[in-house]
Formats: sequence, C-alpha cells, structure tokens
Amino acid sequence: MINVAIDGPAGAGKSTIAKKAAKDLGFIYVDTGAMFRAMALYMVRSGADLDNSGDIAAKVGDADIDIVYEDGIQCVMLNGENVNGLIRTEEISNAASKVAVVKEVRQKMLVLQKDIAKKHDVIMDGRDIGSAVLPDADLKIYLTASVDVRAMRRYKENTEKGMASDLDAIKTDIRERDERDMTRAEAPLTKVPDAVEIDSSDMTIDEVVAKIEGLIREIR
Ligand code: C5P
Repeated sequence: MINVAIDGPAGAGKSTIAKKAAKDLGFIYVDTGAMFRAMALYMVRSGADLDNSGDIAAKVGDADIDIVYEDGIQCVMLNGENVNGLIRTEEISNAASKVAVVKEVRQKMLVLQKDIAKKHDVIMDGRDIGSAVLPDADLKIYLTASVDVRAMRRYKENTEKGMASDLDAIKTDIRERDERDMTRAEAPLTKVPDAVEIDSSDMTIDEVVAKIEGLIREIR
C-alpha cells in the first residue's frame, strides 16, 4: 500500500488538494479532521465540558466513529448517523481542536486511521499524520500558508455557502486553533524533518495539486 501524509495548519488547503490528488491517482482520501469534528459534535451534543479533559475522556467510549465511502465521498459516521452536513461550522471547528488535545480521543482515532491506511492506498490529511499516525509514510508533505491567506480562503468559502462571516473573527479563530494544535502535549502539529514543505500562499489549487501529484508519481 502507498501511504501519503499531508499535515498542516487549518485552512492551508489540505482537504481540497488531497481530495483532488486522490481522485486523479485512484487513492482513497482520508480526512482525519472530520473524525475529530464528529467526536466534537458528540461531545457538544452530550453536554461535555470541552475544557475538561477528564469529562471528555469519560465520554469517548460512547462515541462510535467510522468512515465509509459512498460514490467515492468520505462519510463520517457517528453512532451510525452520517454527520458530514453537521461538522463544518466554526463552533465545531473550535470544539474539534479542544477535544483533539485529549489523549483518549487521539488513541481512538489513531487505531482507526492506521487500520484504513493498512488496507488502502491513501492520501491522509491532518495534523499528526507524518509524525504519529503514519511515521513510515512513503511521502510526507507539510502544507502551509500565511494566516492572512488562510483566513481569506475560509471567508470566501463561507460567503460562497451563503454563511455570514467576519474576517477578523476568522483570523482570531485560526490563530487560536494554530496555537492549540501546535502547543498541545499529545501529537502537536509539527513539520517532521522528512516532510516536503509547500507554502501555498501564492499558489493556485491546481499548482499545488500538480506539485503533489508529481511527488507521488516519483514514489509510485
Ligand atoms: O483539519 P480540520 O480543520 O478539519 O481539523 C479540525 C481540528 O481537529 C484541528 O484544528 C485539530 O485540532 C484536530 N485534528 C487533529 N489531528 C488531526 C486532524 C485534526 O488534532 N490529524
């Protein structure tokens, strides 16, 4: 199996790019952030105190999270319910980065993610894929972009979806999320030494996709 890991901060374009490259090359795209988002949704619904690791750890066992594919699209299942349509809000983005600091949450996700990568050629994106989930990945990419560019992309995405959006609030959220993701004790976001770094600030989606597909073809 060929395993490609893409890590990087929120809004760097990981999912858009990984999805496209996976489709072009016949890989399965695994969006690990969606799994943490589903876990966050479970915690919000069950009234967990998101700043209390003990409370979250106690509830992890009740959230059964799975990934299935329908027409090539990843569906995240939370206790049997497809929650794809419920996990892309700013509330869940922030909640996800809070539940993601909890060791028990990460352990559960790690097992699931490793298992998928064992069975398929995957492009898996997240924060700790190259460092913790797939340390032996055939190719590791660290995809980043400036905070301003990432915030503007998210703002445009929201506006296109017809969602009210505040650029400064998005910037603040992104900074807070970066800080939490990079400084947590468990599997923080970091660029591992064997990752190829791509800064997408001044690149189009197609340029980044072409670059990554070129790197994958080299190792195939
Ligand atoms: O990638 P996405 O923005 O959907 O991820 C939501 C949150 O889930 C991230 O901010 C991060 O805290 C967490 N996450 C993680 N490890 C991953 C993927 C996501 O901690 N592999």
